[in-house]
Amino acid sequence: MSSQRNDEPAIDFDELGRKYEEERQKRLRSDALGQYQSLSGKFADFGVDPNAGEAPGRDRVVRDADVLIIGGGYGGLLSGAHLRQNGVEDIVIVDKAADFGGTWYWNRYPGIRCDVESYVYIPLLEQTGFIPSEKYAKGAEIYDQCQRIGERFELYRDALFQTEVESFSWSEERQRWIVRTTRDDEIAARFVISCTGHYSKPKLPGIAGIESFEGHSFHTSRWDYSYTGGNADGNLTGLKGKKVGVIGTGSTGIQCVPPLADWAEQLTLFQRTPISIDTRGNRPTDMDWARSQEPGWQKERIENFTYWTSGIQHGENLVSDSWTNLLSEPSSVAGGVVEEVDPMEMQRAEIAKMESVRRRVEEVVEDEATAEALKPYYHYFCKRPGFSDNYLQTFNRPNVTLVDTDGKGVERITPKGVVVSGKEYELDCLVYATGFDFMTSYTKETGLTITGRGGISLDDHWSHGARTLWGMQTRGFPNFFLMSLVQSGVSINYNHIAEAQTAYIAAVIAHCIDKGIGNVEPTKDAEDSWVDRIVELSGPRQAFLEACTPGYFNYEGEYREEYALNTSFGGGPHEYLALLEKAIKGAFADNLEFTERAES
Ligand code: NDP
Repeated sequence: MSSQRNDEPAIDFDELGRKYEEERQKRLRSDALGQYQSLSGKFADFGVDPNAGEAPGRDRVVRDADVLIIGGGYGGLLSGAHLRQNGVEDIVIVDKAADFGGTWYWNRYPGIRCDVESYVYIPLLEQTGFIPSEKYAKGAEIYDQCQRIGERFELYRDALFQTEVESFSWSEERQRWIVRTTRDDEIAARFVISCTGHYSKPKLPGIAGIESFEGHSFHTSRWDYSYTGGNADGNLTGLKGKKVGVIGTGSTGIQCVPPLADWAEQLTLFQRTPISIDTRGNRPTDMDWARSQEPGWQKERIENFTYWTSGIQHGENLVSDSWTNLLSEPSSVAGGVVEEVDPMEMQRAEIAKMESVRRRVEEVVEDEATAEALKPYYHYFCKRPGFSDNYLQTFNRPNVTLVDTDGKGVERITPKGVVVSGKEYELDCLVYATGFDFMTSYTKETGLTITGRGGISLDDHWSHGARTLWGMQTRGFPNFFLMSLVQSGVSINYNHIAEAQTAYIAAVIAHCIDKGIGNVEPTKDAEDSWVDRIVELSGPRQAFLEACTPGYFNYEGEYREEYALNTSFGGGPHEYLALLEKAIKGAFADNLEFTERAES
């Protein structure tokens, strides 16, 4: 089969399918999920926080609280903000970091920016009066907004930083969660909200010899500016005269490679799978435009972005960037405004996009062999797409080398450097841009021990896959809310979903407090029907992912049956968001079971 539309070159789908499969086969491995290692044990030094010193001493905290929130990133902050707006005062936020920020606290690598437009990604712009300085803001601005929200909603008041929640157990006697931390604190909370983030547990590749490397090495989420010099804006003077290597070409790798190339004498990038790179088109904010926006503009823009990135042409394309234009060419969706998206049209648009991504590599990268190695051969949404106007250009520099491992990955690390196909590349510094644990097991990923009613652990309860109502509550674990991608709605702009989920959570908690309700959990029927719906809708997405090149989206190609339950809601963001909105307007009573308050 071949296809040609408008000015696009003909695409031979059969040939392309064969090439995609050939590339996928190269990357399948017997140790798929076991190939990574965490920053613990002999790699514990990789996990040390470079942004803060030793935690200052303090007395252990023993107290009651209405709400305890685990995690002070955007999930935790939005929970706190909504709770305050609903009149909830007694809130404790606990975070391992020394400040609010979550992913933006830990990730401060050079070149870090939003990969979704700042005006839709950064929450509460109107409420805090903040205007990002660029369409895709620097990490530092996104991080600052976290502190602004913390201050604006007085969330610092009872926050416990440099403290990790280890466990929480439901006390039948007290009708509260007994929460224990690494600082020996014991907090009896009526409600617990777990907002631990999706990319919070960094991982190293399972390459032999990592510990033998005699140069300097670190993970991108623990960037060592004491070695490289400079900051996220560059000026990495410590790298002058140094040979630097990077492993990893995901969203992080493509952002930190250009500034590294500016300062290292020699930069070598070790690639296993190329990422797709579309144009970015960053530009300074037009402050007159920003000031002229009517109240409610951010909500409207956020909703507009989610429509357009779901393939639904809903009004004017306000963001108009590489995300929203992907499915918006006039030919891709018939008839202008549509509410239903034709899957065949989406597939055609997606394949055409990947073709244009490959053409762009040829246009930008001068060396033919390097350009060929940088072309991605898999479906566009098999991996998080990348956007950059300086990553591909970096390979035209004389001090930058791409070492393509043809899908095999780095072979070995030695005291002197990195070995690929038997050849050793000597390095002074090695940067691991190798990502984070993702959605295999909620408790493994978060490190939390959670024990619900009757002494049942969440691990056991979910041993055959997760069971939730809307990805946020689970029966047998009263007054517990979690935010993760498991059984929850998803949008390219995660903060859109987070905003809706935290509004829902705060509404339920405020309802309980106001009405003197003791406990809340999903009814059995509501949970069962949500789980059934998740499984029912998981089929097409699963089929798509099974044909994908390995990556964290498809459990590195090692699918297990229980993952049908651990998947996100396949009905699209709008159905999910509408469901939560309806619930907030009063319908949650149909899905939740409330019990009288009888506690100490
Ligand atoms: P990823 O998991 O996306 O990338 C990890 C990289 O390491 C991949 O290129 C992987 O190759 C490579 N790798 C792993 N093992 C080996 C090996 N043995 N040899 C060679 N290469 C190896 O992590 P990121 O940190 O880049 O991104 C994670 C997520 O965080 C993103 O998908 C995005 O959602 C989010 N993010 C958002 C940003 C933003 O908004 N600004 C910025 C950065 C991240 P392979 O592909 O073959 O597995």
